[in-house]
Amino acid sequence: MKIANLSGRLVIVEGQTAYDVAKASDGRFGPEPQSAYADWAAFASWAAGADLGEGQPFAAEDLGAPVPEPGQIFAIGLNYRDHAAEAGLAVPDGVPPTFTKFKNCLSGPVSTVTLPAGGQVDWEVELVVVIGKAARNVAAADAWEHVAGLTAGQDLSERVTQSAGPAPQFSLGKSFEGFGPTGPYVVTPDELADRDAIALSCAIDGETMQDGNTSNLVFSVPVLIEKLSAVLPLDAGDIIFTGTPAGVGLGRTPKRFLADGEVLTSKIDGIGELRQTFVAQK
Ligand code: ZN
Repeated sequence: MKIANLSGRLVIVEGQTAYDVAKASDGRFGPEPQSAYADWAAFASWAAGADLGEGQPFAAEDLGAPVPEPGQIFAIGLNYRDHAAEAGLAVPDGVPPTFTKFKNCLSGPVSTVTLPAGGQVDWEVELVVVIGKAARNVAAADAWEHVAGLTAGQDLSERVTQSAGPAPQFSLGKSFEGFGPTGPYVVTPDELADRDAIALSCAIDGETMQDGNTSNLVFSVPVLIEKLSAVLPLDAGDIIFTGTPAGVGLGRTPKRFLADGEVLTSKIDGIGELRQTFVAQK
């Protein structure tokens, strides 16, 4: 199943057709996109057998963040060996390096993003996990049962702010307005050929910058859920940006950052594409 946020309403997507969940369920579920996760098991069970009625075509531009109001947003740093290497940092063990992206930086899959004046804006394509069932002290072997679905994300990062001050601080530099594009859909793991090996890539104006696979994650999706849920409870509707593979601008020689007019496309196999156009701050 694929679900999305079409103009602020929860929809199920089949091909290029969207089915309004509130209408199809006579108001039992929806219309708010976030409400899908409040009782995910009941929603998924209903959706599996529902007569969805008449759908409507839609444009990707009309999709919002598929999980617009997560209670918690986790984001993981240095979760691919090749990215840790390009950052000149050790591969983590024990606890995954974790920060947050503040909620109001989230957007839908197609957007225009303003480049902060004096900043260095970098790209990080990432698989994003959506929690579907509360998790506390969950073992990795059981962790997929707590996942509603997966979506694509860009952990856009303003590197000057990220490294400003006496100690590195990630969360604010990665939370400028529009710095958390997500979507286009939340896809249930059963739709993917292999939920533990998903190709992800991004390109600037068609030139490939990152090309990775989640099979190379240092902390896999189940291990992340085990490690995070050992620290605090995860709630349904929380999301986890799982980290980015090599190829970010900061790790290049020479360094490269996004410029006025450039278009960044990010793709995750089986999930879909994000498209961001960047404009200089006026
Ligand atoms: Zn990241």
